[in-house]
Amino acid sequence: MPKIAVVGSINLDLVVPVPRHPRPGETVLGGDLVEHPGGKGANQAVAAARLGVSVAMLGRVGADDAGARLRRVLDLEGVDTTRVLPVDGLPTGRALIAVDHTSGENSIIVSPGANTALSPEHCASEGALLRDAAVTLLQHEIPPETVAAAARLAGGTVLLNPAPARELTLDLLHMVDILVPNREELASLVGRPLPDLHAVADAARQLLGPTAVVVTLGADGALLCEDGAVAFVPPHPVTPLDTTAAGDAFCGALACGLVEGLGLHEAVRRANVAAALSTTLPGAQPSLPTRAEVAGALG
Ligand code: ADP
Repeated sequence: MPKIAVVGSINLDLVVPVPRHPRPGETVLGGDLVEHPGGKGANQAVAAARLGVSVAMLGRVGADDAGARLRRVLDLEGVDTTRVLPVDGLPTGRALIAVDHTSGENSIIVSPGANTALSPEHCASEGALLRDAAVTLLQHEIPPETVAAAARLAGGTVLLNPAPARELTLDLLHMVDILVPNREELASLVGRPLPDLHAVADAARQLLGPTAVVVTLGADGALLCEDGAVAFVPPHPVTPLDTTAAGDAFCGALACGLVEGLGLHEAVRRANVAAALSTTLPGAQPSLPTRAEVAGALG
């Protein structure tokens, strides 16, 4: 049985460089379109597989060329895709990404398509996978009731990356063992801005339910809140080139560390290294580091 079960999204990212983002009603001429495999679920599955842990993905794609291609990419990465199935009548999920080529700022529209068909019943029919996996890794690009069903069925550690931000029910929060928001997602969860690290720590303490809250802090590393105690885990120093999927690299690596029996603090330290390395290369999945690269950086 795979050690990590990822229940999540699989998207094709359509990326266009633009001189600036269009205002409503405006057309902007962009550069050449590039297509990349993406989706937070798929990115996190690949992040974990590159680090050498067995990963199975539960997901849905359209019965179209994009879906077949994305499944092949996951196969090549060593992710078990026997539970990635095509659905009729819905297109493969896509993310339309405009990147301002001077500021580097992204704007993203996700069209979830077939990801919306991933249902609680699909989770129930894969109960053995979820029961036996050491870690079940979840995000918010699939329906909320499916996330809740997966968390309920999971026999191991439940790690939820609440991205993109949406309301969390108390019921779900109590089924999550480790919540991994970024700073903006945490602000949205507690409903107030978090101007400094003290405010981040207070907000993390406030989230009752998960055993631990790990807040990713971009270039500042991460904050770990466990049993009310807060620790800052410093970043791995790099010169970032493209921070796309840094959060996904972090979550995949954190799940791997837990599977390998590391304590949470050490697993977060490693996740900081894997995520930092992912910012030094362009793209989402192409930038995710291997086990050897993370080991090399750890020294
Ligand atoms: P997201 O990609 O979800 O917005 P963050 O921006 O918080 O998430 O980044 C996730 C993780 O990536 C951070 O916790 C950190 O480990 C790493 N990271 C991101 N940017 C940098 C950076 N400039 N230098 C070092 N590490 C970084």
